Amino acid sequence: MKSIVNYEQALKLLKAGKLVALPTETVYGLAGRIDDEKALKKIFQLKKRPFFDPLIVHCYDKKQALSYLSEKQPLIEKIFDEFTPGPLTLVAKKNNKISSLITAKKQTVAIRIPKHPLIKKILKQLAVPLAMPSANPYGKVSPVKSQHVLSSFKNQIPVLEGGFCQKGLESTILKIDFLKKKLLILRPGIITKENLEKFLIKYQIGFKVKYKKDPFQPGGGTSHYKPDSAFYIIESEKTEKEIKSFISKKFPKKILKKLNLSLSSQKTAREVYSQLRELSKNKKSIIYVQKKSHQKSGLWDTIWNRLEKASSGYFKFF
Ligand code: AMP
Ligand code: MG
Repeated sequence: MKSIVNYEQALKLLKAGKLVALPTETVYGLAGRIDDEKALKKIFQLKKRPFFDPLIVHCYDKKQALSYLSEKQPLIEKIFDEFTPGPLTLVAKKNNKISSLITAKKQTVAIRIPKHPLIKKILKQLAVPLAMPSANPYGKVSPVKSQHVLSSFKNQIPVLEGGFCQKGLESTILKIDFLKKKLLILRPGIITKENLEKFLIKYQIGFKVKYKKDPFQPGGGTSHYKPDSAFYIIESEKTEKEIKSFISKKFPKKILKKLNLSLSSQKTAREVYSQLRELSKNKKSIIYVQKKSHQKSGLWDTIWNRLEKASSGYFKFF
């Protein structure tokens, strides 16, 4: 099989119920049509993803997205109008057109309307939404380049080339608690807490925004986004030199690699997964990063959410 496919080939494969890795503005996704149970099962199988972890449904536009929901709330429409097409996923009550395989038997579905022109064109032509998790084996770093998908799946999955992903981290997953008047961030993402708060103020909507940390919620666990080598977060004000000498003494046979977080939050978000992949190419590497107290709020919250999970299982120094 040719691993990089063009637009027409990707569309033809998807129409026939095959899987194709597609570019989005966040990360590359592994796509299959939502009306084909075989394609859906294949997504879980290829990723080695457990069936209890639900998939995000990608729709062409708001009209299509709403046609899969059983609740009609003006706030849902307003959120779609404000933030989509773009990196926001909304969890809302599903109707019976959504298979329980997609939602892991939940009565809610996660819906996203992506912005990347190639996936938009595909969704328009296909006229059926796509179930699409990130195109990486379960628990590992998400791909932001076609080459990442090819190497993760050993050229077994056709990939539509779409360049380097513009945002580089996954979408924000949001659920609305209408009773308690809260927007719950189930997964921090590209749309930040502050972006959501501004939106509420702009339209004078009397809701609050809260992070909802739930280890029992799918995707809420502590370990995810893992690079191929050990990754340590250093929580200390010690100097670079002191840190290096400490780690080298502890792991004399390893090659030390530092994750660079010196760019702006947007640039860091865009290339942090790529960096983690590059730095872990040599299995003897140890990657480390020093926690900086000023990297709080906004997109830094999202970046550190991913780094904490990527480093889970490795104890923290000092
Ligand atoms: P990804 O593999 O990046 O596409 O992650 C998809 C994530 O979306 C899952 O791990 C869940 O955390 C979340 N998700 C999908 N569907 C639902 C749902 N119905 N309710 C809550 N979270 C969901
Ligand atoms: Mg993922």
